[in-house]
Order: sequence, then structure tokens, then C-alpha cells
Amino acid sequence: MKSILVTGGAGYIGSHVVQQLRGRGERVVVLDNLYSGFADAVRDAELVVGNVGDQVLVSRVLAEHRVDAVMHFAAHTVVPESVRDPLKYYGNNTCNTRNLLACCAEAGVDKIIFSSTAAVYGALAGGIADEDTATQPINPYGMSKLMSETMLRDLSAASALRHVILRYFNVAGCDPQGRIGQRTPNATLLLKVACEHAVGKRPSLSIFGTDYDTPDGTGIRDYIHVEDLAAAHLQALDHLRANGESLTLNGGYGHGYSVREVIDTVRRVSGRSLNVIEQPRREGDPPMLIARADRLRQRLGWTPRHDDLEFIVRTALAWERRLAAAEHPP
Ligand code: UDP
Repeated sequence: MKSILVTGGAGYIGSHVVQQLRGRGERVVVLDNLYSGFADAVRDAELVVGNVGDQVLVSRVLAEHRVDAVMHFAAHTVVPESVRDPLKYYGNNTCNTRNLLACCAEAGVDKIIFSSTAAVYGALAGGIADEDTATQPINPYGMSKLMSETMLRDLSAASALRHVILRYFNVAGCDPQGRIGQRTPNATLLLKVACEHAVGKRPSLSIFGTDYDTPDGTGIRDYIHVEDLAAAHLQALDHLRANGESLTLNGGYGHGYSVREVIDTVRRVSGRSLNVIEQPRREGDPPMLIARADRLRQRLGWTPRHDDLEFIVRTALAWERRLAAAEHPP
């Protein structure tokens, strides 16, 4: 039986995909260097610890596990860090993807699903992006992903490879059964930070910008539950297995929530009064970033199951409580 290689399968989104793949009986091998992932997040899948840029290792894993499909999550993902240290991002995200693709081409892997990002669109004039919207990244993270997308398209044009590129919007929440979740230390993402504050891990919570041209003055984002996004990856795999053509798809719900709406939901769900501090805008943040997400529905038959901010917050908060309890046992 063939296996699926999941790079970055010990990370936040990758581990949710691994869990769904295993849940339907797929053979999975995870390659992760554990730089930001956690070995126990891969649960019952096999874990190989190493780098996706290590061609000797990757070629061995592809051969030994008879891999015919790759899901490539492994990447650095912190935008401000990419601005400070661009070569770290071009090295890990772009150069390593190039090496991975070289191994895939040599081993005859003909199906690749790639984690891209809404950051490829940059500062969107209208705040809403469809997949044909011009890509103009405004930071090295977005550019490192766009360069990988380009390599994938060029390689697909030149070989039997087919791919699905998923451009993630604001991924949030976690496994509703609480087995895995977002564990990144020093997180900067709004939903994670708000839940950390609600469980007492942080003394306060900042709103970055209250003077945007939006209904309540705060930034609007398209928050998608990680389980829905993970399910899209499995459907992308099914599409490629059925000889479907290469696709680029936005991963979002097609509507958004403001920072204040997110904070209000965390307040309501947690039952805590939150210490919210209004701050100036954070550099590089667009007012609004929303996916046009029809193509994902139409091309893969994807239907979200958790398009509900309250559910997203409930799962994120439950996970944060678990983490806090594990760190400070009674
Ligand atoms: N944000 C905020 N306080 C925080 C973190 C984020 O007000 O502590 C805002 C940010 O300005 C943006 C939205 O929340 O409008 C989502 O930011 P996040 O960092 O979660 O994701 P991004 O959209 O930047 O990838």
C-alpha cells in the first residue's frame, strides 16, 4: 500500500490533517524537524525527524514508504520574523521546497498538496481576494510561499506532477475532542492570544488599530476552523487521485469577523472579563482580508462544518485550558 508523506505533520495544521488521514485509514509518514512541531502531535502516525531540504533523507523516506502523494506543510510562518530575517524564510520555505520537489520528481511522486497563504495577495485594495486576484506579497513570508507556488506550477507543466495549492486565511480552533491544538509558544495570532489571556496566561490583550475604515474600526479577517481546512486537504487528495487537474484554492469561509467581535466572543464563551488595551495599528496589517471561497466548494465539493465563530472559540479555549492545566497541575 502507498503512503502519504506529510511534511510538518507535527505542527498545528499538519497534525490535524494527519489525524483525519489516519481516521480514514490512510498510511501516513510524517517528516518534521520539531523546530516548532511536537512529536506527540503526530499521534499514531510514523514520525521521521529531519529536514525537508535534506535530499538524501527525503529520497530514502519516499522510497522506503512507497510514497505517491506529498502534503507539504513544513515552513516558518511568523510574518514579522520574516521581515527581520528574510533569508531564514527563503531558505526554509523556498529552497527547502525546491529540494523536496526535486526528490518528488526523481521518485515519481505525482500528487502534491501545498500549504500556501493569503499573504501572497499582500495589501488587498478591496479586502476580498479570489484566486485570480493579483499576487503582490508585502513580506518575505508571503513571497517565500509564492515562490514555492511558482515552482510547483512550473514543475507540473514540465512533468506528470499535479498539485493543489491551498491559500490559508486565518486558521483557528482545534480538534473538537481536544487531542491536538495550537501549541506555538509566544503566539501572536489574535484568537490564540485572546484565549491565553482568558485562561490567565497573559495579563492583557491588545487591539491593534481601532481607526480602520470598517464598521467598528478594527481589522476584519476570515477565520476558518482548522478541522474544516484539514478536511479540504483530504478532498484535495481525493481530487488528485481521481486524476483531477492542478488547482489553486482559497481556504476560508468567504466572510469575516472584526477584532472586537472575536474578543466579544471569547469574553462570552469564557465568562471572563478581559483586560483589553487599545493600541495603534500594527505595521503591515491590512484593514480586511477575506477569501472568495467558492472555488474550493465547487471544485472539491467541500462544505464547511464549523463555520461558526463561537464553535471556533469554544474549541480554542478548551485547548488553552488543557495546556494551562498541563503546565500548572493542581
Ligand atoms: N490583532 C490584534 N491583537 C493581537 C493580535 C492580532 O488586534 O494581539 C489583530 C490584527 O491586527 C488583525 C487581526 O487581529 O487585524 C488578526 O491578526 P492575526 O495576527 O491573528 O492574523 P493575521 O491576519 O495578521 O495573519
